[in-house]
Amino acid sequence: MEHVERREAVVVGGGQAGLSTAYELTRGGLDIAVLEADPRVGDAWRRRWDSLRLFTPARYDTLPGLAFPAPSGSYPSKDEMANYLETYAHLMALPVRTGVRVRSVTRKGSTYLLETTAGTIESDHVVVAAGHDRTYIPEVAASIASAVSQLHSGGYRSPSQLDGPGRGVGAALLEMLERLMRERGIRAVRAEASSNARDFYLRRGYRGTGVQTPDGAWPIAKPL
Ligand SMILES: Cc1cc2nc3c(=O)[nH]c(=O)nc-3n(C[C@H](O)[C@H](O)[C@H](O)COP(=O)(O)OP(=O)(O)OC[C@H]3O[C@@H](n4cnc5c(N)ncnc54)[C@H](O)[C@@H]3O)c2cc1C
Repeated sequence: MEHVERREAVVVGGGQAGLSTAYELTRGGLDIAVLEADPRVGDAWRRRWDSLRLFTPARYDTLPGLAFPAPSGSYPSKDEMANYLETYAHLMALPVRTGVRVRSVTRKGSTYLLETTAGTIESDHVVVAAGHDRTYIPEVAASIASAVSQLHSGGYRSPSQLDGPGRGVGAALLEMLERLMRERGIRAVRAEASSNARDFYLRRGYRGTGVQTPDGAWPIAKPL
């Protein structure tokens, strides 16, 4: 018969939510396990594009008990974020098991059974902190001519992958455009941005880089 490990609580996912929950649970004295599918804590950030910097300054990127190791108003790179999460798990002695994917969670009386790639765990409580970062391609993508190359931000790494006009929404597109413009000396592009993304960029002082919203609210001015 298969050995079934027992825990008071299991946290599924070792991202920001999973790690900070694990921190509070261990402080409360619970016997827990954190199961993380990726080989290293922080890999979800490491996989993102090379030039990515967080749009939230370091003071907002801190998890409970360990300040982000950067000036509070600075914008960490994605690798600094990834390494911070990994260091956090280590310094807080969180019982994270990397490379373990949870396949299913089922109810068994007053407990739960988790089937994982490393065996079965029975637990009184389960916290699902598996994130919501899934590739979403809007329907409109299917109606764009095949001559126009399309790239989802999840598959973007560097400007060498991009050619021609960019079209999209949100902070991801603006990050990419800003980088592309700097590398290729492009002085102005027309971008569709959510008001949220626009606000972040204005606060970060990117006004003047040449990114312009369709309503013209974002002036293009200086050459790069
Ligand atoms: C391009 C981009 C830029 C962003 N920039 C910022 C920013 O500047 N500031 C900011 O605050 N937020 C930013 N975000 C959002 C931020 O990444 C998320 O809000 C945050 O990571 C959510 O944390 P989480 O712990 O809920 O999920 P995640 O970080 O997604 O962590 C979930 C973890 O669960 C693991 N997992 C999933 N399924 C399983 C399973 N079945 N078994 C075991 N493990 C599993 C995953 O491997 C992952 O490590 C950005 C997001 C993107 C896509």
